[in-house]
Amino acid sequence: MFGELSDKARDLLERMQAFMDEHVYPNEQALLEAAPEDSRWTQKPLMRSLQEKARTQGLWNLFYNHGPEGAGLSNFEYGQICEVFGRSLVAPEIFNCSAPDVGNMEILAIYGTPAQKERWLKPLLDAEIRSCFAMTEPRVASSDATNVETEIRRDGEHYVINGRKWWITGAMAKRCAFAIVMGKNDPTAPKHKQQSMIIVPMDTKGLTIVRPLTVFGYEHAPLGHAELVFENVRVPAENMLLGEGRGFEIAQGRLGPGRIHHCMRLIGLAERALDVMCQRAKSRVAFGSTLAEKGAVRQAIGQSRCEIEQARLLTLKAAWMMDKAGNKAARHEIAMAKIMVPDMAARVIDRAIQVHGAAGVSQDVFLAEAYAEARYLRIGDGPDEVHREALARHELSRFG
Ligand SMILES: Cc1cc2nc3c(=O)[nH]c(=O)nc-3n(C[C@H](O)[C@H](O)[C@H](O)COP(=O)(O)OP(=O)(O)OC[C@H]3O[C@@H](n4cnc5c(N)ncnc54)[C@H](O)[C@@H]3O)c2cc1C
Repeated sequence: MFGELSDKARDLLERMQAFMDEHVYPNEQALLEAAPEDSRWTQKPLMRSLQEKARTQGLWNLFYNHGPEGAGLSNFEYGQICEVFGRSLVAPEIFNCSAPDVGNMEILAIYGTPAQKERWLKPLLDAEIRSCFAMTEPRVASSDATNVETEIRRDGEHYVINGRKWWITGAMAKRCAFAIVMGKNDPTAPKHKQQSMIIVPMDTKGLTIVRPLTVFGYEHAPLGHAELVFENVRVPAENMLLGEGRGFEIAQGRLGPGRIHHCMRLIGLAERALDVMCQRAKSRVAFGSTLAEKGAVRQAIGQSRCEIEQARLLTLKAAWMMDKAGNKAARHEIAMAKIMVPDMAARVIDRAIQVHGAAGVSQDVFLAEAYAEARYLRIGDGPDEVHREALARHELSRFG
């Protein structure tokens, strides 16, 4: 239905599969293990060396199609490669394709000035630094971004920022060099013109990291998720992105591709969960037969295959529509995938955990952390209900 992969994409896909087998799976456990307290938020040398290998092999910035630093793939092609490295939670960083940097690179590539690109985009494309995206706030329901209260006030040749953010992925990392902060510069403007986005270097006076937050107990070090306070944080006026009041416009541009990338990675994770579910079922004997011979387990396997295929088709359709008609035209398909895929992945991973018994919830298998990832993505990048609401509005509008 959606067409063939180009020769370039097919070659990258095959080389990605080989790289995963040779370098990623054998090093996965070492990368996931907690580092000592004093180096908890520092990139592991092993990650750095794997990044260098990936880059040498041209498996780098594959998501990026704004210039020669990327592979120039379509969303449809990238989706299928993304699925392969999405099988491991540590892999996206190895290929410089991980959130939230990917979204920030997209923002800077599309909306950044030449000076902003030189200072912030270039080192991100080279993975010399990391970055974070700061929208969510503890005081307000942030699934409705018009609620965001952080103040961005013009003061001569500077902007002054005051507010509190939380769940800011990547902000704990020592290598995190800047945040793209969303806040209000004019609370009196029309609802969707009040917000702006501005670049704030992490070492700016008045910006404090309050604490790391955990996801089902996982720290996600060395990246982490932080609560941040901004107290009279002063940055040069040229750090404003696109212009005052244009934050929503940028948010729309960023979240479309970001959401679909999450879906593609989760399909890979669900596919791997199904693999290990089958392997475990075939090797474990209980009450006189393997688990693979039990009707309940066979039902779980068959159902998981149906659900993965459904989700994959929907996601690829969304990616294909983004390529053919643009992100805006594809927004309903993107929303549908964003609702269906994390839900599907959590269900498939949950079944795989069940088949593994106690091992399934332990640190010995990747499933527990994979479940946490799929589950939180029913909230991150907008909760399910918000996307369903947007879809319902669209459907109902067809009837006047
Ligand atoms: C691991 C993780 C990483 C994250 N990373 C980032 C990041 O890097 N940067 C960032 O800015 N944010 C980040 N977030 C925050 C995330 O985007 C927000 O949590 C999300 O947008 C929801 O906002 P909220 O938590 O304020 O929930 P609320 O807005 O308080 O919503 C709570 C619940 O209300 C319900 N609800 C909301 N609207 C409706 C509706 N219209 N109809 C019915 N029910 C509704 C939903 O069930 C929703 O889950 C991250 C979150 C997590 C868990």
